[in-house]
Amino acid sequence: MALGGDALREVADVTVHSQTRVSPEACPALVLNADFRPLSYYPLSLWAWQDSIKAVFLDRVNIVSNYDKTVRSPSFEMRLPSVVSLRRYVRPSRHPAFTRFNVFLRDRFSCQYCGSREDLTFDHLVPRSKGGTTTWKNVVAACSSCNLRKGDLRPGEARMWPARMPYQPTVNDLHQNGRRFPPNYLHESWMDYLYWDSVLEP
Ligand SMILES: [Zn+2]
Repeated sequence: MALGGDALREVADVTVHSQTRVSPEACPALVLNADFRPLSYYPLSLWAWQDSIKAVFLDRVNIVSNYDKTVRSPSFEMRLPSVVSLRRYVRPSRHPAFTRFNVFLRDRFSCQYCGSREDLTFDHLVPRSKGGTTTWKNVVAACSSCNLRKGDLRPGEARMWPARMPYQPTVNDLHQNGRRFPPNYLHESWMDYLYWDSVLEP
């Protein structure tokens, strides 16, 4: 396979050939770090096929596994990668960003007061009106009815305590939780690198 710049320019308009009628859009590549662990579990680190092929040509990744599907241009032909690994290790940031999504992920998408997974909102443990801050250590996922019930009260006043006191998670904490929520589509070649069914807690 030629690795020239011309071939790279052609990546944009290659033709996809395959025995199956699955579109290449349905063939994302799982992206592993150089240590062969997924860059991210949740959302799972996936690249569109165009991105993974570009990264192959730019020598940024190694192909670990392929789909049974070929892309062709006048000067090259290759199978679509199903798993790629970065050639250079990317050190994950230790502390994830404080975002709504990450708070839900830390709290496993469940109300910290009643366990419901419906109508999730955020509750300030110490209400903002009483000086509570919007930080990892004062915000928990809560369903709207618990949120309403707790209102403007502190946990002691409302007699409502979260299942787990809020904390600042590490990236690893979020990875662990993300494994509990596998995406709908998992290609068989990814399984060696994912451990969705491992027991994380007693
Ligand atoms: Zn609730």
